[in-house]
Amino acid sequence: MNGRMNVSSHFLLVFFIFSLSLILPINAQNCSPLSALLPMPNEVEVWAEKVPFRLTAETAIVTQLPADEFCVKELQRLLNEQMQRDVPVAQGRKHPASVVELVLDASVEGKEHYILEVTKKKLSIKASTKAGLYYGVKTLEQILLGDVCRTEKGEVAALRVDDAPRFPRRALMLDPARHFYPVEDVKFFIEQMARYKYNVLQLHLTDDQGWRVEIQSHPELTRLGGFCNPKAKGSENGFYTQQQLKEIIAYAAQRNVEVVPELDVPGHTTAIVGVFPELKCAHWQKEKHESGLPYRYMLCAANEQVYALYDDIIREVAALFPSQHIHLGGDESIIEKNWSLCPRCQELKKKLGYREDRQLMNEFFRRILTSVRKYGKQATLWCELDNIYMPANEYLFDYPKDVTLVTWRMGLTPKCIELTAAHGHDLLMAPGEYAYLDYPQLKGDLPEFNNWGMPITTLEKAYEFDPGYGLPEAEQRHIVGVMGTLWAEAMQDINRVTYMTYPRGLALAEAGWTQMAHRGWKSFCRRMYPNLLHLMKQGVSVRVPFEVVPR
Ligand SMILES: [Zn+2]
Repeated sequence: MNGRMNVSSHFLLVFFIFSLSLILPINAQNCSPLSALLPMPNEVEVWAEKVPFRLTAETAIVTQLPADEFCVKELQRLLNEQMQRDVPVAQGRKHPASVVELVLDASVEGKEHYILEVTKKKLSIKASTKAGLYYGVKTLEQILLGDVCRTEKGEVAALRVDDAPRFPRRALMLDPARHFYPVEDVKFFIEQMARYKYNVLQLHLTDDQGWRVEIQSHPELTRLGGFCNPKAKGSENGFYTQQQLKEIIAYAAQRNVEVVPELDVPGHTTAIVGVFPELKCAHWQKEKHESGLPYRYMLCAANEQVYALYDDIIREVAALFPSQHIHLGGDESIIEKNWSLCPRCQELKKKLGYREDRQLMNEFFRRILTSVRKYGKQATLWCELDNIYMPANEYLFDYPKDVTLVTWRMGLTPKCIELTAAHGHDLLMAPGEYAYLDYPQLKGDLPEFNNWGMPITTLEKAYEFDPGYGLPEAEQRHIVGVMGTLWAEAMQDINRVTYMTYPRGLALAEAGWTQMAHRGWKSFCRRMYPNLLHLMKQGVSVRVPFEVVPR
């Protein structure tokens, strides 16, 4: 699972921006090929003494890809936007006098590895995959963005970038279950995250507040479950049709972003039990369903209808999303108010010889994961331990071997790292201390509503995040990546979402991509600024970190 690469042995001469920035005066930094690189590439060599590449009227793009391939179009777009040149794709066998080359080259090992080399003669991007080429183009875009003075003259500094990510999975999680975001807004969000080399978008599609994914065999799930809030002013209701999700998936795939669906079970299920009240535990059956009231319902572990319905749901979701992964929640289940009081669940517990009610999670997920495997997918779950804060000693239940876990609760991550290592589980890092982007960025800052006393995660704190938690290599080998969460109880639209995401999402992007040795807070702050300006120019709402950037 672990696709980390180490390319550091390839070069003798390596410059990292944080060391360079100590030498360069401020104005030179503002006009340097490195000043907007984010995440910082893992190998950069600047040939200051060499003649730069110059874009001329004769320059053409040489590539074996079709001219309408997405990364070719992206390359043309950025040369046009930043250098005001229309650079055509070279036709036929005629070799242009000046070359921008985009080459699939099998010798560049690794799925996201790319080599960008700029000399007087040509500007070349090589990778063995389209994903790698796309990242080469994105890095070139930041070079042009940072090196304003040369860019204006139609020049690109002579340099070489040989870059591959520290972790294979770099995710952000959107929560359209709490506040629904239209398709165009999700695409807008993907466009920005792809710029910073995030490659996974997790969509939290079902929760207490709503059911957002069309299931054709059970249309009432969205007909009713998509519109749970009768008082909604607009953004709180809605759902995605399967056709719309295909559109989002295709848009994301062009930008090397994989969309992972999340269907949260067995808790966080008020929306679905509102549609099918018989899925609740037996002791709830006489009560009138109270929509919008405290979210206390779980799916009954001893009801065959639950497993039959979820087999249909997982079959359709598995067919819809090309990702190998499906996230099934597993968090915050209020077992003591549901399974502990349900005669059916208690009977099942007795039959299976369980000592504790929480062990019913084994049976619940055994059944659900049978469907997941049948439809060719692998499950991911939020990691829950036997306590919600330390001291905690073991998993809440026996997670099957093929499950990827996500660490999230404040204070529990070191224990989660230890347990996942011992049990052989892949681990995705979303610790509340660093990666919960829904928390305020400074005391007194947003969110102004639905704030339950959230802890503060400053930009600097977010930047301190080392996904390996400083552990020896052998003890962090099972860590597959990072995930920033954007739980949306207090995010009513996409502008609020991006405000909460940036700039902390830039810090997290670098944590996921860049080796610790090449990272530095001061360097990050300098590189962040041109990126924030660029995001603003694109109409992205960001929080200007005035505590870091002088006014
Ligand atoms: Zn029950």
